[in-house]
Amino acid sequence: MSPSPVVCGSGISPNPLSHEELLLQAVPSVSLVPSQPFRWDKRDSWDALNKNILTPAVRESYLDLSLLEHVRRRGDDVISACPACREAEKDSDRDNLRVFASGAFNCIAHPKDREHNRRIFELVGVRGEKIQEPIENRNWRERRARERQKERDVESLQETAKRHRAKIISRWEWDRADVWESSPQRIDCDLVEFDPRWFIASLFPVNATVWAGEVHESGQQGLYGSRWKSVPEWQNEQQVGPMITPAIWKTGTLSRAAGNIVASPYVVLDFDGLDGRKPKTADEIEAHLRASLALIRWIREGLHWELATILFTGSVSLHAWFHSPPPDVLESLKATATTLGVDAGLIGHPEHPCRLPGHRHVKTGKLSRVLWLQSPISHQPQHL
Ligand SMILES: [Zn+2]
Repeated sequence: MSPSPVVCGSGISPNPLSHEELLLQAVPSVSLVPSQPFRWDKRDSWDALNKNILTPAVRESYLDLSLLEHVRRRGDDVISACPACREAEKDSDRDNLRVFASGAFNCIAHPKDREHNRRIFELVGVRGEKIQEPIENRNWRERRARERQKERDVESLQETAKRHRAKIISRWEWDRADVWESSPQRIDCDLVEFDPRWFIASLFPVNATVWAGEVHESGQQGLYGSRWKSVPEWQNEQQVGPMITPAIWKTGTLSRAAGNIVASPYVVLDFDGLDGRKPKTADEIEAHLRASLALIRWIREGLHWELATILFTGSVSLHAWFHSPPPDVLESLKATATTLGVDAGLIGHPEHPCRLPGHRHVKTGKLSRVLWLQSPISHQPQHL
């Protein structure tokens, strides 16, 4: 089952969707790669800067920025010394002149002083001609417009997620008992709840090479090669963990470099606090866990992602392992992750370690444990 696409502005629907339902459908259907905001690169030549900010074809005349003194960007505008003030030995801070993105300019010491402005133009202005806009200039403006649109799309997605988060959390509330009840494997024995070997066998195919160990156990001239083992090999180990990666690695891998990954069957969502703020008091932690479970249920039932396991880390976080969705869906989640209380740093990084069950958390002394687990996909280990 996959959600149907959202159709907007097509008149009155016979079954109007609530905002929540719209959001449910909008999130997986939008593919967004957050783009970097535009930054002025100091290495840009004066020529390029002039062309990019002031386009002779759209404005009749412009100031030649290369003739100005102490030029810097402020937002979309340019600040510099005012040449007319400097001529009169004023503007010692060299910040009187503001050139707007439109090409208009203004001296803060002589606002609306026509004579002063005329003198500025005499000193550094270029009389415009009706010339063809250079093609690279137009391309730059079009690219910039597309980037701005993308940024606005990401912002509106985040806004929508934030506005509806409270509703999602109350509507998709997932009681602890119901979580337990719905787990394909009953969480009623130490094997399922705490055994890292059983956890590996439940999540990875029998011939998969899986890494487990301490975070630092990777690389260093192959010193930690034994941290990569097949699923049956892990079953015979006494010490497994405390960390794992949600990835399948090449046989003989010695380093947790992304290039050594054969497959990334899971994405791990780390619910570590809404809006990137970690819960501290007991009440905050309880509210955070409730909200996290509701959001996990919403992703599973509302967005139809396939849940693999939920792990309580022993501290304040829940880790939800989902079978990897298509890359565009993952990108749209990345855009809303922080708002939803998910650490975006793990999304799209299957080489990053996360916790195994049955290990004591250094800070709280609590054991990490499984709250929900899919049916095992590897053969049952023989010694169990
Ligand atoms: Zn001036």
